[in-house]
Amino acid sequence: MLGKKLHFYNTAHRSKERFEPLHDPVSLYCCGPTVYNYAHIGNLRTYVFEDVLKRTLNAFGYNVKHVINITDVGHLTSDEDTGEDKMEKGAKREGKSVWDIAEHFTRTFIQDIASLNILPPDRWPKATDHIPQMIELVKKLEERGFTYTTSDGIYFDTEKFPSYTAFAGLDAENLRAGERVDMGEKRSVTDFALWKFSPGEGKRQMEWESPWGRGFPGWHIECSAMSLAYLPQPIDIHCGGADHIRVHHTNEIAQSEAATGKPFVRYWLHGEFLVFEKGKMAKSGDHFITMATLRQKGVAPLAYRMFCYTAHYRTPLSFSWEALASSAQSLANLRRLIGSLPSQSKASPPTTLQVAGALDPFYTALADDLNMPRAMAALWDIVRDDTLDAHLRRVCAEQADNVLGLELGRPPTETVQTVVGAEGEAMRLECATYVPIDLCNRLTALLSERRRARREKDYATADRIRQKLGAAGITVKDQPDGSTTVSIPAGVCTDSDRETLIFME
Ligand SMILES: [Zn+2]
Repeated sequence: MLGKKLHFYNTAHRSKERFEPLHDPVSLYCCGPTVYNYAHIGNLRTYVFEDVLKRTLNAFGYNVKHVINITDVGHLTSDEDTGEDKMEKGAKREGKSVWDIAEHFTRTFIQDIASLNILPPDRWPKATDHIPQMIELVKKLEERGFTYTTSDGIYFDTEKFPSYTAFAGLDAENLRAGERVDMGEKRSVTDFALWKFSPGEGKRQMEWESPWGRGFPGWHIECSAMSLAYLPQPIDIHCGGADHIRVHHTNEIAQSEAATGKPFVRYWLHGEFLVFEKGKMAKSGDHFITMATLRQKGVAPLAYRMFCYTAHYRTPLSFSWEALASSAQSLANLRRLIGSLPSQSKASPPTTLQVAGALDPFYTALADDLNMPRAMAALWDIVRDDTLDAHLRRVCAEQADNVLGLELGRPPTETVQTVVGAEGEAMRLECATYVPIDLCNRLTALLSERRRARREKDYATADRIRQKLGAAGITVKDQPDGSTTVSIPAGVCTDSDRETLIFME
């Protein structure tokens, strides 16, 4: 890094600032998922950005203590503390217990982020395991005079916290301008629930005793309690989606600072949305795209990670299947290029200084508020630069990948899916590029039939299938190890160069 300093855009001050942490390890808190449904790829974009942040901190020599919470209770369907608990609603929808729902979607979320090569946090605290800490925090707020009670819960009185609106940079009127707000018994539109009372006997699956009566915590208090439980205050960095600025993070700051009398967080970083032509991604309808959707369409998770790098994290990223396919292609090309560079050198290996020198533009882009489009361009320049030693270029790519997490050293193949052939045999299709699911299915059926024919020594049928694929421009070649290599020409699945599918059992 040659003494380079990191700079991040701090939402709290609306400016890019030099990063100077107070703690070693650097404390990093990221708002986690509400586990009532699958995460869509727009939600996951935020976790990719946070992973790049953490890997960049590591690359610049910082140790990091990273916490992502799991919200398994208390997140209501509206920001105004009305509506149903998302968890209880999810349980009703799936006909399961709230606890089963929480476990299922927590596990899926952890699998999703692992598939995206996102490093696991040091802690995954669950809200339901931290109810006593939340009650303690509410008690402190009560002692300090920041709360009041209504018939449905304990509320935070935002009028008592004069800097409440500073973070979102809006006045109180505008905070909710244009929204229809159900005030209930709230004194002010911005007041929020710290503890909600259970609505009646036996109506909730998740509820706890508290000094104020049986009930459940408000969503915002969860993050304050869990971040303060595991990280020293003020926390160095707190992240989340840009949609959290106005309400969730504004409320986290108010209640944490009111309870402790200390600043809560030093650097606030927010990731922007993944958008469609018609707006941001939603949890239902055609715009509900999950990691499972990508796998069904034959898109490798790391191709999506690559796609996330095509825009700065503070810019909305426009989604289209074409743009995603182009990122998959670009990842395959990058891997192929790096794979062609020697992994060893006859001469002495490059020195740390040589590697740092060659990677200087890459690290400069990272240090400038994680500018990934520029960092990727810098990496392409390095691996394509014929004036640099080929082995040095490979070492640079491998080091850059510690931040990128794209597994650039892998051969340019991607597992598309496991398919079950005609005879019930499981087969794995691997390919170097994005292949639409219908093409995968057609290929699988034909190759499965050909395999059966060969097993039965029906070589006429096997040849006929090979010729049929050949007529479409697809060539089939049997390998000595029993696998089959299938080459698909340009235009069949993408308009790229000739690509290779490896077909095997
Ligand atoms: Zn949060």
